Amino acid sequence: MSLPSVTDRLATNRFVLDEEQCHITVNQEVARATGTAERIIACCPARVYSWAADGTVAVEYAGCLECGTCFAVASPGALEWHYPRGGFGIQFREG
Ligand code: SF4
Repeated sequence: MSLPSVTDRLATNRFVLDEEQCHITVNQEVARATGTAERIIACCPARVYSWAADGTVAVEYAGCLECGTCFAVASPGALEWHYPRGGFGIQFREG
């Protein structure tokens, strides 16, 4: 019996988007000056971060898996990250 792929397993998750409050804020100046921008774009497994046309870091927080990786690699002051408010965010479904 083969296991489902990671992509298939992630597809079973449910996201409840908090449209009134983003749980991630990038300090663009600090992120650029410290290399945090490149790190969070490279490390996020959900591709939440990307370069915007104006050179800032865009944040598509709706797809966040709440793994905390970006916060772990960010330099102090570059990123504000907290869990979404209760009832919002990802609901993992496995099995
Ligand atoms: S917590 Fe994880 S999934 Fe969410 S933005 Fe950070 S690295 Fe990406």
